[in-house]
Amino acid sequence: MPDSFDCVVLGAGPAGSAAATLVAEAGFKTLLLEREKMPRFHIGESLMPETYWPLKRLGVLDQLKASSHPIKQSVQFVSPKGQASTPFYFQQHDPRECSQTWQVFRDEFDHMLFKNAAAKGADCRDETRVVEVLFENNSSRACGVRIVSPEGTHEEIDSSVVIDATGQQSLIAHRLGIRNEDPNMRKSSIWTYYQGAERDPGIDAGATIILLTENKQAWFWFIPLSGDITSIGVVGNSDYLFKGRGKPATIFEEELRRCPALSERLVAACRSEDFHVAREFSYKASQAAGDGWVLVGDAYGFIDPVYSSGVYFALKTAELAADCVIEGLRQNDTSANQLGSWAEQFDAAANLVRKLIAAFYTDGFSFGKFIKAHPEHLGNLTDLLIGRIFHPEANRIFQDMDPWIAEAVLSEKI
Ligand SMILES: Cc1cc2nc3c(=O)[nH]c(=O)nc-3n(C[C@H](O)[C@H](O)[C@H](O)COP(=O)(O)OP(=O)(O)OC[C@H]3O[C@@H](n4cnc5c(N)ncnc54)[C@H](O)[C@@H]3O)c2cc1C
Repeated sequence: MPDSFDCVVLGAGPAGSAAATLVAEAGFKTLLLEREKMPRFHIGESLMPETYWPLKRLGVLDQLKASSHPIKQSVQFVSPKGQASTPFYFQQHDPRECSQTWQVFRDEFDHMLFKNAAAKGADCRDETRVVEVLFENNSSRACGVRIVSPEGTHEEIDSSVVIDATGQQSLIAHRLGIRNEDPNMRKSSIWTYYQGAERDPGIDAGATIILLTENKQAWFWFIPLSGDITSIGVVGNSDYLFKGRGKPATIFEEELRRCPALSERLVAACRSEDFHVAREFSYKASQAAGDGWVLVGDAYGFIDPVYSSGVYFALKTAELAADCVIEGLRQNDTSANQLGSWAEQFDAAANLVRKLIAAFYTDGFSFGKFIKAHPEHLGNLTDLLIGRIFHPEANRIFQDMDPWIAEAVLSEKI
């Protein structure tokens, strides 16, 4: 007889562990499956302050407060000419504990969430790969998974609900052909770690810095981590970054030379990690749920790393979807409508970040100039950078910003 669960969660990134924690905590028999051995390396170290609320609900804030993860109080942008913006200080805008966050090594952070899921009652298994999601009599209703255990044996597991949190792997969306890449966001990235990079003093020591290169074709992130390690990565259009340019190390060094404001910070630093590459990471599934299944985190979609929204979206979609799964299991309704009823509200909110990202990539649009002309929107913009996208006023800035972007797009075309 196959093992049987109320809910099986595929992938133990932040989305999977969060969803498994909440469904298990509600009293349902929950299985969390991860193909890697935990802890495992992952990109995405800079959190958005709004992760505070899901992390609070998961009960891990005290662990984070006691950790050595640097505290992120702000984000700062550096122009192609090397001019640094005034940092967007989250607490200056709203002096509450939830207006700051952490810069985390993802192996530690994700492992903490994985162990938390186990502590809250989920059956958590790493080194267990899901090879297939099973559908009832070849219908569109998911009914379980086929896995390969750490010993290499194939097993089938029955489940009333399957939550896909497999990240960029996006198991269900791939299988159903509903994963749509964004043709306007064909970006890729090369990143590594440095030991001893120069940080700003005081409250700026944990800031994320986004630096554009001189030719405006790429940008770097600078994310300070514990142990004097800094995560540094470059993002650009895939063709620009990789076509005819040699190895990732060569490309990274070339781009670094185009970013003196960053290379100055690395004069006394040494690289402490290999180069990693992520290609074409922007996509979205056209459907969040079907009968018996739901997508969360990157398995549902990923926009772009520039505002560090990935982990927040992973936790938030997990929380929203888990509540629908819990309600569905209680009411014996695991239909697509029930499991995906959170998605419309989430999509509308995420769209604000999408618009902010489009503005960042619009040549000729300057946040600095816009805020100078509209200082009344500084608070609203800082709110968006914090991740406060779910309140009715969150879109206020766009009433004035949309015409600026339209004009910049028009002048790009002339
Ligand atoms: C270049 C780049 C930079 C980024 N920087 C940031 C940042 O600074 N801040 C931020 O918040 N986000 C960042 N992100 C995004 C962030 O990495 C993701 O949004 C986040 O990890 C999503 O979490 P998740 O739980 O959905 O997926 P993941 O964290 O990817 O977890 C998915 C898990 O599923 C497992 N899995 C996959 N397939 C299977 C299978 N078949 N069986 C079992 N397990 C499986 C994987 O091993 C993995 O552990 C960045 C992304 C990119 C590409």
